[in-house]
Amino acid sequence: MMLDQSYDPENIFAKIICGEIPSVNLYESDSILAFMDVFPQSEGHCLVIHKQATATNLFDVDDDDLAALTAAVKKVAQAVRDGLAPDGIRIAQFNGAPAGQTVYHLHFHVIPVYEGRNLGAHASGGPADTEQLEKTATKIRAAL
Ligand code: AMP
Repeated sequence: MMLDQSYDPENIFAKIICGEIPSVNLYESDSILAFMDVFPQSEGHCLVIHKQATATNLFDVDDDDLAALTAAVKKVAQAVRDGLAPDGIRIAQFNGAPAGQTVYHLHFHVIPVYEGRNLGAHASGGPADTEQLEKTATKIRAAL
């Protein structure tokens, strides 16, 4: 999928937004959803998306929607920081398959980094245990 592809309303995050596919949610407002990544690169890896903006990537999102999304990224990253006490936090966003994008609904990754623990590979490996994701999500939600 290159940078100028049109938005596919059947993408996996669109299905998460409408509840067709389950997700471990952290935060939801009228416009924003934050949920745990099922192939986490570290404990607490989560994703933040805009629910109405039909943008595949950074280049086709409205500036106001992007502003709402980045404000939510900061809010969620703060809760990850407060809830999990990582040593660092990586914020990532990929545009186009050659850059590593695998889901074509604009999203930001919030990836806690813990000293002495390597990050897992991006979007690979087995899915995380839902019970473990819930436990981690509980700590983040408590800090929101
Ligand atoms: P990207 O490769 O930047 O497009 O990121 C997509 C992310 O979505 C990856 O980190 C995947 O692990 C994650 N992902 C894929 N399917 C799901 C799902 N059903 N629920 C939560 N996260 C997912």
